[in-house]
Amino acid sequence: MKTAMRLSLGKTPLLAAALGLLAVLGSAVQPASAEERAKDLFGAKKLPAATAAQSIGFYSKGCFAGGVAIPLDGPTWQVMRPSRNRRWGHPAMIAVVEKLSRDAAADGWPGLLIGDISQPRGGPMLTGHASHQIGLDADIWLTPMPRRPLSMAQRESMSATLMVDEKTHLVKDALWTPAHTKLLKRAASYGQVERILVNPGIKKKLCDTVKGDRFWLRKVRPFWGHDYHFHMRIGCQPGSPGCKAQEATPDDDGCGKPLAWWFTQEPWRPNKNPDAPKARDLMTMANLPSECRAVLDAPGPSSADAATYHGGGVPVAASAPEPEAPSLPATPAAAGLPSTMNAFTATPEIGVPLPRPRPRPPGN
Ligand SMILES: [Zn+2]
Repeated sequence: MKTAMRLSLGKTPLLAAALGLLAVLGSAVQPASAEERAKDLFGAKKLPAATAAQSIGFYSKGCFAGGVAIPLDGPTWQVMRPSRNRRWGHPAMIAVVEKLSRDAAADGWPGLLIGDISQPRGGPMLTGHASHQIGLDADIWLTPMPRRPLSMAQRESMSATLMVDEKTHLVKDALWTPAHTKLLKRAASYGQVERILVNPGIKKKLCDTVKGDRFWLRKVRPFWGHDYHFHMRIGCQPGSPGCKAQEATPDDDGCGKPLAWWFTQEPWRPNKNPDAPKARDLMTMANLPSECRAVLDAPGPSSADAATYHGGGVPVAASAPEPEAPSLPATPAAAGLPSTMNAFTATPEIGVPLPRPRPRPPGN
């Protein structure tokens, strides 16, 4: 059979070439696509998958379809670093960001500078962020929006204000204002918002200064970085059966022992292996939920404009009654120190390693 094959191929060069080509294609498409780095594939997508809105997988290991973009400018917000094309999210996320911008403006905050939300179809990013993969995370700068509209060039280059002293890990008192606290409280007040990540110094500042209602503090969790922006995360939305919920936050304000850990040496030890590849560098399509392949292959809308959210005063999520956040009991795991520390505790299996303390160029 072998001989016959070789013979017949030898006699029909065209067929041989065709078969050869098939063999090459076959080997390139099959195993290679599973091996291809997910961040390259998702990072290359300029537009969302034009299907029903759906988050698939986990915040740090997934993708999403039916994304919409927040407009670059709104009455109460401006999108920063527009060239990154990360102003995409689940429609409910975009609605919450817009709602926060309006409510914050009513509270006296001049408007939101919006950082990264997600890539058009989510997935791991080429740079920065372990999470932000399923359209349910958004970064908001702690710098108030200037009155003037920033040019596109200014939005790329304007540096953010670092709110925390890198040595003491404490908030710079000259920069922190009651309006910052109010903004975080407003964000935490939404039923859909499950978690807000801030630098440990900011958490400490809130713990030390918030009087009266402190229940919302449980949603505000300390994490590395997050010293020029805060990270707002909403829960899995209806219509996303494949969305994996995160562990519930404990019911207490988180100002005790778990916060104290951040003011020990342990979290700030230099990383022994700073050049080790990060999870996003290693993730292949095989590591993501299999539905993410279909998300990648789905047709897009005709243009970014066609998928830009114009919810106006009646955004999808904000128009629906806000469900009360279920107060789930803290899981046993949440009682142990290291796991309460990790904002991504629910991240399972293959390593999304604990993000390391890292010098963060503003913009990441
Ligand atoms: Zn973030």
